Amino acid sequence: MKKICILGSTGSIGTQALDVIRCHPREFSVHGIAGRSNIALIQKQIKEFHPRIAAVWSNEDAAALAQWCKNNKQKTRIVAGLPGLLEVARLSSADIVLSAVVGSVGLEPLMAAISAGKTIALANKEALVVAGSLIMAAARKKGVAILPVDSEHSAIFQCLKNEKVSAVRRIILTASGGPFYRSSKPLASITVADALDHPTWKMGKKITIDSATLMNKGLEAIEASHLFGVALDAIDIVIHPQSIVHSLVEFVDRSVIAQLSLPDMRLPIQYALTYPARISSSLRPLDLTAAGALSFDVPDFKRFPCLDLALSAGKCGGTMPAVMNAANEVAVGRFLNGDIRFVDIARIISAVMKSHRVIRRPLLPEIIAADAAARVQAQKVRCV
Ligand code: NDP
Ligand code: MG
Repeated sequence: MKKICILGSTGSIGTQALDVIRCHPREFSVHGIAGRSNIALIQKQIKEFHPRIAAVWSNEDAAALAQWCKNNKQKTRIVAGLPGLLEVARLSSADIVLSAVVGSVGLEPLMAAISAGKTIALANKEALVVAGSLIMAAARKKGVAILPVDSEHSAIFQCLKNEKVSAVRRIILTASGGPFYRSSKPLASITVADALDHPTWKMGKKITIDSATLMNKGLEAIEASHLFGVALDAIDIVIHPQSIVHSLVEFVDRSVIAQLSLPDMRLPIQYALTYPARISSSLRPLDLTAAGALSFDVPDFKRFPCLDLALSAGKCGGTMPAVMNAANEVAVGRFLNGDIRFVDIARIISAVMKSHRVIRRPLLPEIIAADAAARVQAQKVRCV
């Protein structure tokens, strides 16, 4: 039985991971969970899965939750803040840490889990974007596997099984295109509700906005380059609105291998947790004749400038990806709060990136400092 800790257990990926575990009680048990503020759901998860440890963000929530555990005869130990998150990430009894928090807050717990020798199931793409080289080096040094949960990366990982990286000619990342791929509505008038209405995936708010701006695909290209050791120039992005072909790999002999399935995150989550085995699932099967036509198209870089910003940050390297990512996290937060327009997201990222002096080969503290400074600046950029 594999013992699992889930960072971000109350989120979209976290709850779907618990769904997978619920369906396979003989294969998995939950040893640790961590959320930020959804205390009601953490309580439900404690009652159902009886983890040894649970983390929440604020000390007040942690104290109230510990009291609730006492009243309800639950033995789960409650911890708080970043130290709490790190404790869950390092829990000695766990085999696998599923990192599914949103944002670069996932970086330090991920490094802690790697140092503790845990197998990593990675959904939190922001950590790899901001510090991919350090993370991959730490994982190599420790002999720790980083198994992708992001559907495109799970697809590439499956296509690459038993293949050498030297045999790869290019990676083809597919993108749904988000809600505005074929929309004629001017992007300046997009509302929060419009942007949250994703055509094929039901996800957390931040990644849903990233999908609408196409930032998500830029983040994923950087994520793929680190995970698979492939240069960004060898990664192509193709719009595929049906979200059935999850990505493809072209080899030097021009053979192209793809992974297909209906869009359901429980599949890549399950594969990361069961790897290298495959076990049965009750997910809906793909019926190709019912799926209809599968189409592919080029992305519109002009209309979606976030894609280019992310790719140029990735090519620049050093601290720039961390700065780009931090500015994006803040800008998306400001858009969701109704403070700025959809089109201002790219403007904020661009302004913050332009004023950043890149540090080449940064260490972790320099990355964390660049991230923090970019957040302050992104919060201040005025949009009219
Ligand atoms: P959600 O917003 O649905 O969930 C985020 C989770 O992170 C919640 O459990 C939240 O807790 C928790 N969290 C946020 N901040 C903290 C913190 N400081 N300490 C502890 N927990 C924290 O996001 P998603 O599940 O959609 O996405 C998670 C990650 O997976 C992202 O990096 C995303 O890009 C990636 N991903 C998601 C996909 C999807 O289908 N959803 C697909 C591919 C990748 P709480 O809710 O209690 O506040
Ligand atoms: Mg994805």
